[in-house]
Amino acid sequence: MLFINAKLMIMNKFNYINNKLYCEDISVDEIAGEVGTPFYLYSYNTLLNHYRAFDKAFSQVEHIVCYAYKANSNLSLCRIIANDGCGADVVSLGELRRALDAGVPPGKIVFNGNGKTAGELEAALETGILMFIVDSEPELELLDKIAGKLGKKAPVALRINPAIDPGTHHHLATGLKESKFGFAFDRTLDGYRLAVSLENIEVKGMHMHIGSQILGIKPFVDALEKLVSLLPSLKKLGIGIEYIDVGGGIGITYRDEAPPTLAEYARAVSPLLKKTGCKVIFEPGRVIMGNAGIMVTRVTHVKNTSEKKFVVVDAGMNDLIRPSFYDAYHEIMPVSRKNEKKKVKVDVVGPICESGDYFAGDRMVADVKEGDLLAIFSAGAYGFAMSSNYNMRPRIAEILVKGKSFYTIRKREVYEDMGSNEAVPGWLE
Ligand SMILES: *Cc1c(COP(=O)(O)O)cnc(C)c1O
Repeated sequence: MLFINAKLMIMNKFNYINNKLYCEDISVDEIAGEVGTPFYLYSYNTLLNHYRAFDKAFSQVEHIVCYAYKANSNLSLCRIIANDGCGADVVSLGELRRALDAGVPPGKIVFNGNGKTAGELEAALETGILMFIVDSEPELELLDKIAGKLGKKAPVALRINPAIDPGTHHHLATGLKESKFGFAFDRTLDGYRLAVSLENIEVKGMHMHIGSQILGIKPFVDALEKLVSLLPSLKKLGIGIEYIDVGGGIGITYRDEAPPTLAEYARAVSPLLKKTGCKVIFEPGRVIMGNAGIMVTRVTHVKNTSEKKFVVVDAGMNDLIRPSFYDAYHEIMPVSRKNEKKKVKVDVVGPICESGDYFAGDRMVADVKEGDLLAIFSAGAYGFAMSSNYNMRPRIAEILVKGKSFYTIRKREVYEDMGSNEAVPGWLE
């Protein structure tokens, strides 16, 4: 097994056989030979296993799993889990359309975000989604106005900021008191009073999402207890809550983190949720997609300076920004293991003109040479989704493996794709 301490990884289909890395039943080397590097590589069975494990863990409560599309919105990947019954948490019109294209019924779609535009609210109302997760009073009022214009009632849940520190990277904490998201906990009842006073709003639920890559159970339980504590007051106001949406945020193993298993998480929150009699929505992103994908890159140069040894690879921070953006750790291993005993301390860096363009710093990795393939693990979530054309680099291919076969589920971009929306004024021609 590649990863210790990660019970979820037992379902992981990236394994070494005779020192060669396989994705399901095909060697990564073989795929790289055919598609070129760099590329993202996903395992169909790993993805499906993760979704099913999540769904099953919460079988004691009536629930809908609404996978967070922002983690990875590739059409084929979304369709794999949509076909198995998974819903969608979307944060833009693009993601809403992607969820519909993936085959998610509108009744399993929730719409999150703190800056939904009038156009987005209108399109989602026309679609007839399950709920708008409303972030603020002005959004409530705008939604009411648009729903009135369309002669519809807008189903809503209010996003409540429970002021809980989830103990994660500060960029990944979303439920702190000073965070931009949701209704401040002590203003929540006012929010609900406003919601029920608006003619075209139908109150359906409450929502929280306290952050991402959370490795403890306590922040979830504390936040959920705060939410549940509001139910009696809401009842007194004559407001019934049908859905409790507990957001996403469960962490995964990148290195040696030991996040709670899904069973542990379910044991901690299910009794609380069950007692409310409400239906439950989950919005997992990373835990479904993160370890279902890797990025494969080739060593371009090995460079020695007086200070360091640099392994320069053909992928850059534009392809996988998490190390630069969140100081994130991603396991890096050679696709063909040769001399595992001989490890050297290196920086693994990309070709981008930024010092922050790195995948590992001062890391002991196998001694690699020019032309070797490296696998960067746990890249399925917030990998391709956050990639860009920075430095005029075409976005890389996405490949899906199922059993012995592989499929290109997103073509590698070419130069022409990058310029396709540009126009030159006549006076410059
Ligand atoms: C990002 C996000 C999620 C998914 O978070 P993960 O950490 O990937 O599980 C769920 N809900 C909301 C509102 C989000 O912003």
